[in-house]
Amino acid sequence: MTIIDQTPTDASTAPALPAYRLAGVTKTYTQKGRIVHALEGVDVEIGTGDFVTIQGPTGGGKSTLLQLLGALDVPTSGHVLIGDTDLAAASPAQLASLRAREIAFVFQSFNLIPTLTAAENVAMGLEPLGLDRAERDARVADALARVGLSERGDHRPGELSGGQQQRVAIARAIAKRPRVLLADEPTGNLDEQMRDEILTALEHLNAEGLTLVVVTHDSAVATRARRRLRLDRGAIHDITR
Ligand code: ADP
Ligand code: MG
Repeated sequence: MTIIDQTPTDASTAPALPAYRLAGVTKTYTQKGRIVHALEGVDVEIGTGDFVTIQGPTGGGKSTLLQLLGALDVPTSGHVLIGDTDLAAASPAQLASLRAREIAFVFQSFNLIPTLTAAENVAMGLEPLGLDRAERDARVADALARVGLSERGDHRPGELSGGQQQRVAIARAIAKRPRVLLADEPTGNLDEQMRDEILTALEHLNAEGLTLVVVTHDSAVATRARRRLRLDRGAIHDITR
């Protein structure tokens, strides 16, 4: 199944390349001698600046797809293009650079270090970039401001609500100024009000040009996206309308 984004774009502002182009992507795992087809021929394009959600049943292939989009794994067959980089042809150094600079992850569990403050947790995300101290501090302050937590930089995770902790995790992810933010059930551990906090933060970042791909079971999250995809038994469908 081929899914092409039909949304018209303004040629004067449209970026030259989509964030992702996937063609004929399969992923097979071997589990205790049995072959599992996690992805079975996925064709999809994700535009730069888009906000896409991926829904679908457990085991449908969502996390597998997110790993490919994150350059954390390679397909068994087919092509995954991140911008103009084909994962299958990229060198280990190119893949490492993509992961360090271009792509950020947020997970259901916030994965913050409890003994560090919010600002220190965000700074951790910048370590691979080897920035000088002034640049690092400026980016930490900017990232916390973007998720509405300027006043909480010196709080430890235990002193923050779940929604605030997830916003710290988002700040840590965006501090490196990635092109893409990939999120796997980012609101899965949060109540409704905190979920709205996270969605508002994500929408602000998307409005500033960040491409968002969000795996979610929550249709309230999906209704806020510009484009909704569904993965079921390794096949992808556009369910936007
Ligand atoms: P989802 O995130 O939609 O629940 P996954 O992508 O995690 O789905 O899993 C898709 C299928 O691939 C499942 O059958 C799962 O058991 C299998 N799978 C995922 N990761 C691995 C792995 N590392 N090794 C073996 N099988 C895996
Ligand atoms: Mg999953």
